[in-house]
Amino acid sequence: MNKLWSPWRSQYIDSFLNKEKSDGCILCNIAKKNPEDPSNLLIEKGDLTFTVLNLYPYNNGHLMIIPFEHKSEIESLTREENAEIMEKLQLAARLQVLFWLAVGLSSLAAFSTAVHHFEKRFVRAALCLLLVPTSTVVAAVLLASQLGVASLALGYLTGTILHCLILLPGSVDSLDFQPSVSPHLGREFAARLFPVLITLLPFTALPVIDAFWSSHLPDGSLSYLGYATRIVIGLTSVTIHGVAVVLFPYFSEHAVAGQRERLRAMMISSLKFVFLLMVPLATILTALRLPILTLLFERGSFDRQATLGLGAVLPWYLAGMVGMAAMNIVSRAFYAVSQARTLVLIGLGSLALYAGLSGLLSRSFSYAGIGVSYALYWTVQLIIAGAALGFVVEKLWCVEQFKFLLKLVTASLLVGALLQRASILLPEAMGPVARVLLLGTAGCVVFLLMAWLSFTAAEKLDFRSLFAARETVPSGEACITNSLVARSDTR
Ligand SMILES: [Zn+2]
Repeated sequence: MNKLWSPWRSQYIDSFLNKEKSDGCILCNIAKKNPEDPSNLLIEKGDLTFTVLNLYPYNNGHLMIIPFEHKSEIESLTREENAEIMEKLQLAARLQVLFWLAVGLSSLAAFSTAVHHFEKRFVRAALCLLLVPTSTVVAAVLLASQLGVASLALGYLTGTILHCLILLPGSVDSLDFQPSVSPHLGREFAARLFPVLITLLPFTALPVIDAFWSSHLPDGSLSYLGYATRIVIGLTSVTIHGVAVVLFPYFSEHAVAGQRERLRAMMISSLKFVFLLMVPLATILTALRLPILTLLFERGSFDRQATLGLGAVLPWYLAGMVGMAAMNIVSRAFYAVSQARTLVLIGLGSLALYAGLSGLLSRSFSYAGIGVSYALYWTVQLIIAGAALGFVVEKLWCVEQFKFLLKLVTASLLVGALLQRASILLPEAMGPVARVLLLGTAGCVVFLLMAWLSFTAAEKLDFRSLFAARETVPSGEACITNSLVARSDTR
């Protein structure tokens, strides 16, 4: 655990070197802290005991129930303290049951979401995603004074129940249960599951590979890489994920109907959308990364050095993000044309490339080498997958697209350079929030102006072309895959 998430690690080790610096008992110090501040990890304070999350957990949600009175032996606990510790332990066990129930219901909600996507009803399913966070907040506000932490669990559970109640009736109607089809559907489902699991490997395999090479990396490196990965995956989910989920049934429609030319047109306009959004986003965030990271993370044990470390790798991860977002679209096209095996082979090949390259580059360039490997991993994968898709859906990469990309990258880099310059020139007195907002908005405006002036009419995005004429219904197998991909990438 120390190896995996360790922005605090160097300080943790330092505290061992000069032990006399630590003042008093660590548990008694926690007892004095304020539970309102989430960085204290205090869950609640009882009458005789308090409950705190372990900073170095052995497992997810590892918590400790501690008496306020400083005691070194279990025998010295009073009858009352024993009772309260047991009471809190029971509460934790009860909450665990509520959460397991909520997890089970979430799977049911996920299934209903898949059926709604199959029927191309996206809005209700998307709005339902707001239920759990909203009900958790409402329950906490209304019930926290009577029920304490249990109010959060109840709110969470209520949200998942509502989610099921709203989505399930509509999905049951759409299902046409025919017993003769079921065994076939089951086999089909299993056959589709395998390639999806393989193509989702990067989200678990890349951190494992990073950890494998970590022996020759300085302390804290892995946590910089972890932060950077989470930032780019988060940005991609917010910007591209919804678009990809909606596009997929249309891809499969065209594929099933044999309309290869229409599928290609849709692929090209959606990729154009991805590039138009992600390339400037990546360059603007690269230029403003230090003020943004300072604003978002720099407090407590995330010090200036951590900001600089994360700032050093983030540009590479943002470059990789463009490829990752585009692969989100390209990989769905492979499922639409039932060529998942090609996708799996490309995925495994790229993974091997990443493993080798990150080992090699991290020796000379430390954790920045791993960042470079991440950028190359997604870019190479995108180029090869796009070329492979060319064999099944006409040619995907062409000179026009290359020209468009070249203009886009040049314009974005110019904006990035301008912003970098401008951020030095702006007066220090200006607050960090105002600075980031002003520069970010200015960057977007300048980019749009440049794009407007330099792009030809064909290069400007026409949203109508994204959803050009559709006639047939998507195939069931395609929708099963879509829902699988949709559920698992959001993690
Ligand atoms: Zn103590």
